Amino acid sequence: MQLLDGKFASEKIKQEIAADAADFLTKSGRKPHLVAILVGNDGGSETYVASKMKNCEKVGFLSSLIRYDVTVSEAELLEKIQEINRDVSVDGLIVQLPLPKHIDPEKVTETIDFQKDVDGFHPVNLGRMMRNLPCFIPATPYGILLMLEAYQVDTAGKHCVVVGRSNIVGSPMSILMARNANPGNCTVTLTHSRTTNLKELVLQADIVVAAIGKKNFVTADMVKPGAIIIDVGINRETSELTKSGYKLYGDVDFENVAPKSSWITPVPGGVGLMTIVGLLKNTLASAKGEVYK
Ligand code: NDP
Repeated sequence: MQLLDGKFASEKIKQEIAADAADFLTKSGRKPHLVAILVGNDGGSETYVASKMKNCEKVGFLSSLIRYDVTVSEAELLEKIQEINRDVSVDGLIVQLPLPKHIDPEKVTETIDFQKDVDGFHPVNLGRMMRNLPCFIPATPYGILLMLEAYQVDTAGKHCVVVGRSNIVGSPMSILMARNANPGNCTVTLTHSRTTNLKELVLQADIVVAAIGKKNFVTADMVKPGAIIIDVGINRETSELTKSGYKLYGDVDFENVAPKSSWITPVPGGVGLMTIVGLLKNTLASAKGEVYK
């Protein structure tokens, strides 16, 4: 078993991003600028946004955080998004999910200018991704591709089983792994909660992408020896044993699955760190006009 180490891979790529950002500053006189909007104070969202902001500073980007109380109206939020869309000093805009029930996430996603949609959730970016055109790839799937690339994991011709079909992880991941690209060129099976023979399918997988949101869901008896395991899950449980007061678990039973696998991502220290790298790369590409001129 070999570890797909998100800490190692993300630090290496962040050094490259920082060098690129410094070069961009010299040439343009400004830093790439990411704006994040956070509604409410969900513990997980607070942590993710804080980490995104911190990483921006680390690689020499400008970052701004706009906070709203959980009671903010949908109209006020959409108005702010439109204002940021018009602001030429902003390269990337993300709205941290989940949003409170009275705000329609689809409306929010579609209001963000697709040219600043560095989370890659807008239908224009998803459509362009489908057609293998320049676009912002959703940050988590993009991070997974960067991880596979960093470790030169050969994916061509392999059977990839994706568990979970969300718009932000499972569905785009299935499309990316099937594309005529490297990483990619897989035969892909996309599974979900209505899949009746999940274990049978996962057992056939050369690559398993687990994006379910259930602690230790993928167990050793579901995995073929030598499989490559990508664990996207981040399941938080309160813990008295950690300083933060909680502990993170993946969707894969790491302890028992790891010895059977050829490559595996840990949680924490795997896909989560790479997601931030995906976001930083999209923001830099936006600033440099590499995706949309
Ligand atoms: P969603 O809740 O949006 O989607 C979960 C998917 O899992 C759904 O498609 C659901 O099926 C499927 N599912 C649920 N139960 C089963 C089951 N018993 N068998 C098969 N499929 C099942 O989650 P997300 O995609 O947003 O996130 C998944 C996990 O990844 C979470 O733990 C989340 O915290 C984490 N995450 C991590 C990120 C990172 O950076 N590492 C980024 C984003 C998410 P159905 O569609 O039928 O309901």
